[in-house]
Amino acid sequence: MTVEGGCHCGAVRYVLAVDAAPAIYCCHCLNCQSWAGSAFTQSALLPDGAISVTGPVIEYRFINPSGHESHQRLCGTCHTRIFNTNSARPGLVVLRAGTLDESDRLSPRLHMWVRRKQPWVVIAEDIPTFEETPPIAEFVATMLR
Ligand SMILES: [Zn+2]
Ligand SMILES: [Zn+2]
Repeated sequence: MTVEGGCHCGAVRYVLAVDAAPAIYCCHCLNCQSWAGSAFTQSALLPDGAISVTGPVIEYRFINPSGHESHQRLCGTCHTRIFNTNSARPGLVVLRAGTLDESDRLSPRLHMWVRRKQPWVVIAEDIPTFEETPPIAEFVATMLR
């Protein structure tokens, strides 16, 4: 199985070395809302090295409030955010799941920061929710199982 995706303009493409479409989580925090210009973000957690990217990737780095470095990769042409890594989570990649070619076939495994959720967003009752960020061990275990 090949899982592929890319940016809005098509200049950046990627292939994931995975057996199936990755599990995704939704984050409803204010940062995600403002950065995405939307109600929440959808992301997949992948082992470092599972993504092979071609095209003009540029980088944006910043230190987040917890003191960790966030390292964002974007298309250098259309500036679509593709994936990021964070010094708090070595060995893991966070992929912007809306960039997957088959983004219509994803279903969330977890919702976080639901205390900032838009009131009209209704979450299925069988999906775990967290008021803020879940404990990292529980988060990784849920997403990579
Ligand atoms: Zn692009
Ligand atoms: Zn967020």
